[in-house]
Amino acid sequence: MASPSIGVFALQGDVREHVRALDDLGVATFTVRRPEELRRCDALVLPGGESTTMYKLARTFELFEPLVERIRAGMPTFGTCAGMIMLADRIEDGIVGQETLGGLDITVRRNAFGRQVDSFEGDIAFDGFADPVHAVFIRAPWVEDLGPDVDVLATVPTGPAAGRIVAVRQGSLMATSFHPEVGNDDRIHRYFVDLVKQS
Ligand code: GLN
Repeated sequence: MASPSIGVFALQGDVREHVRALDDLGVATFTVRRPEELRRCDALVLPGGESTTMYKLARTFELFEPLVERIRAGMPTFGTCAGMIMLADRIEDGIVGQETLGGLDITVRRNAFGRQVDSFEGDIAFDGFADPVHAVFIRAPWVEDLGPDVDVLATVPTGPAAGRIVAVRQGSLMATSFHPEVGNDDRIHRYFVDLVKQS
């Protein structure tokens, strides 16, 4: 796909930051709130925010099933934080009845780093990058368990959560527990755009 159009799910979350990051890479980007907008997407970003609100709004705005169908049909999709939760097939510590779109063969644990630890930052190695990324975690999930087709892209290097998986990829789906849309490092968005162009 030479010049893809990438949508950003925009019913909730840090939509603007993703739009800016993709715009800065020269990618055609627009917000997605309705099924017609989803139809125009070659690929999608699910932002950080609050997954319990996202799935409810996706249901209310009749975007939930179309999203599930597009993801199942192979639309490249990148989820950050709450977006990672939305892409996970299984969830721990969700609210009662919480649904995910699924697609990634992972189990995520919501608010995994502990409720007291609201947010923290750290430098972590990311698969294929020469230098570490500065990762910002905000009430972040981690990947508790993963299937055989899922590749690990990053883990927490030190501290009580050392070794925890915080970035994964499965085919054209990828997800990070942290927020690459915060700050000026465009490498992870570029990684996704390259993945979209290759699919
Ligand atoms: N804790 C949030 C959730 O469960 C995710 C936080 C975030 O996206 N920064 O959806």
